[in-house]
Amino acid sequence: ETIQIGTKSKQYNVFLGEGVCKDIPAFLTAHFPNLTRVLIMTDETVAKLHLDKILPLTKKWNPVVYTAPSGEKAKTFDIYYQALSTALENHLDRKSLILSLGGGAVGDLSGFVAASFMRGIPFIQIPTTILAHDSAVGGKVAINHPLGKNMIGAFYQPEAVFYDLELLTTLPATEIRSGFAEVIKHALIHDLSFYQWLKENIDDLQSLSIKQLSYSLIKGIKIKNDFVSKDERETGIRAYLNFGHTLGHAIEAEMGYGNFTHGESVMIGMIFALKLSQEIQGLSFNFAEFKAWVEKLGYETRIPKGLSAAQLLTKMKQDKKSIGETARFVLLEQIGKPVLREIDDSLLLDQMKNF
Ligand code: NAD
Ligand code: ZN
Repeated sequence: ETIQIGTKSKQYNVFLGEGVCKDIPAFLTAHFPNLTRVLIMTDETVAKLHLDKILPLTKKWNPVVYTAPSGEKAKTFDIYYQALSTALENHLDRKSLILSLGGGAVGDLSGFVAASFMRGIPFIQIPTTILAHDSAVGGKVAINHPLGKNMIGAFYQPEAVFYDLELLTTLPATEIRSGFAEVIKHALIHDLSFYQWLKENIDDLQSLSIKQLSYSLIKGIKIKNDFVSKDERETGIRAYLNFGHTLGHAIEAEMGYGNFTHGESVMIGMIFALKLSQEIQGLSFNFAEFKAWVEKLGYETRIPKGLSAAQLLTKMKQDKKSIGETARFVLLEQIGKPVLREIDDSLLLDQMKNF
């Protein structure tokens, strides 16, 4: 399957399916006839599992590999600097290309390296996580600053995305759950019938069929693209993609990145936002049924013990999407109909206590 991703600044394709990586050499030959060299950027975990399948595909372009630490540790200034040093030491130039092999963290890092090396060289993503269906669309690339996640970055689009489902078979359960939370998010904010399909068809994330996985990813990618292409630089409706993320980010930060996955935090944030939506927006929704379903899928549905409501509130108000003194939430009027609301501290504290 080929999904066309369109923004005003650039169009590119996401090729999705089993074995799509095999088409990379032909793609490079067709689109980059003067390609001088390929830098493959990956992380330690993915390198061990999958580099042997990707490296031979680039043989013709004298590939060099940079391996970052796995997870969020890839998105530091130090690693960014090391990757650029590797590029310079190996004489990459403006006609070289970066191949990003990994999850969202490697994707964000390598996209930012590509955006800034010699004022920008092309890059191609080979996502290896479910969560990366989210990061592969939208053109946001970034590293972290000690004072904030994703604070140093750019908008930079890949030339193509090769989403090879064979690479996803090695994902551990927690990472499947993390990524699938964003699939569920995409359904909730945009597509009632997709949400119903998920609820009826997905009851075990560990035994997803290729068909279920590819349908879920294709839908998720298309929905993300719908929001982003209408709003490439986050002025309005792109904010709806933040559903579940106000509290989700706060939980993730309070737990310490890496201790509790992004998607698992966002799931708790979505449950909270759904509850607020019932209270404030009159959302009609079978809340108990939803909770039972996601619990069956293995998600935590309560705020982790030990996190204080007051501290979470402070974090939520620091969220860069909040203006000034009140926390901003994406709520749902209906499934598929998001709205943005500012919500008073007292109401939030109250709701968190009864959560
Ligand atoms: P990740 O890249 O850290 O991957 C999660 C873990 O899974 C890592 O330890 C990784 O080594 C391992 N892994 C990856 N592929 C594997 C495979 N096939 N088999 C076994 N293990 C594998 O993170 P992620 O969850 O993919 O993405 C999270 C990151 O994405 C965060 O840094 C977040 O900020 C970013 N993100 C960016 C955007 C965006 O629009 N740019 C959107 C969402 C998230
Ligand atoms: Zn997210």
